[in-house]
Amino acid sequence: MKFATKAIHVGQEPERRTGAVVVPVYMTSTYKQDAIGQPREGYEYSRSANPSRVSLEATIAGLENAKHGLCFASGSAATAAVLNLLKPGDEVITTIDVYGGTYRLVKQVYEKYGIVGRFLNSSDADEILGAVSEKTRLIWIETPTNPMLNVIDIESIAKTKPAGCLLAVDNTFATPALQTPHDLGAEIVVHSSTKYLGGHSDVIGGAITTRDADLYEACKFYQNAAGAVPSPFDCFLIQRGLKTLDVRMRRHSENAQAVAEFLKTRADVESVYFPGLPDQPNHDVARRQMSGYSGMVSFTLSGGRAAVDRFCERIELFLLAESLGGVESLVCYPTSMTHHAIPDAEKKAIGITENLVRLSVGIEAVDDLIADLEHALG
Ligand code: PLP
Repeated sequence: MKFATKAIHVGQEPERRTGAVVVPVYMTSTYKQDAIGQPREGYEYSRSANPSRVSLEATIAGLENAKHGLCFASGSAATAAVLNLLKPGDEVITTIDVYGGTYRLVKQVYEKYGIVGRFLNSSDADEILGAVSEKTRLIWIETPTNPMLNVIDIESIAKTKPAGCLLAVDNTFATPALQTPHDLGAEIVVHSSTKYLGGHSDVIGGAITTRDADLYEACKFYQNAAGAVPSPFDCFLIQRGLKTLDVRMRRHSENAQAVAEFLKTRADVESVYFPGLPDQPNHDVARRQMSGYSGMVSFTLSGGRAAVDRFCERIELFLLAESLGGVESLVCYPTSMTHHAIPDAEKKAIGITENLVRLSVGIEAVDDLIADLEHALG
């Protein structure tokens, strides 16, 4: 099956009893057993398994070309499940411009347990590989990154990393509609399904996919033990969103390309960050590993913070809000919103400056979006 077909059918067979074409929302915490120790079809308690979640896990695994999927109550809970694979003394190598919450989780939660986080200021696969030591058990990359939209070569890292060191890719920005990291050699894919997978800014969720049975079992054990699972209704919302992922991602990508090209023409915009612009670093890698560039565009405004404040006051269609990946366009000020957990010096080194603005370009009519930007900049 092709991607768009899988999004609608994998894990979503009509319900056996009634033929319902949409997977029912199984709002139940527990299940009647036929006799002691004889649960029906393995369902005992919804933290361990729930049919709405099992169905969604199958869909996401299918879309990522993985064998196994696991869903969590948030992207951060999914990230925690992967970090939990590490033991005291193990090292995770990642880049400094990962999502601020991922940075916080490593630094303020997992470092307490003896796990060492190393954050590199680089998107270069060779530099990332060069930092690997005998203690490195995990390379964690986000590509494109949040909010600088740097692209990292997944295949180069996967091919060259030492055995025993896992590669996890946070695929939140690209989604499997545009990039499938398992096909490039990543062992683990992570999502904040709050974003494009859900796609309608109405649910918080996370997911992990893998082809490896042992990794699946380890993360599944953690999922049940820590218990950060999504509700059946949240699973329904994400699965409903997934059905249109293919068409949405194409439209997000087209709109963002047009917005990035428009911003490039403006004298009051200093720099534009979008992997689909030919002048971007690693644009060639993006072309190779992505089939579209997604809907995120960042830019810096001349005129510093005052210009950003003015822009945010004047903009109308783009709503000033955290998060991204919904059908509606959003504007965000990373330095004090999504990335406030990152120390100032590090923010500066990454390029998260006081005049940086991040757009999540929605699927509205692009002419309206550009008119809104023109008005706000004007
Ligand atoms: N990964 C990325 C790239 C994100 O942007 C986010 C949230 O913004 C997360 C992970 C965390 O996801 P959640 O907010 O669903 O916990």
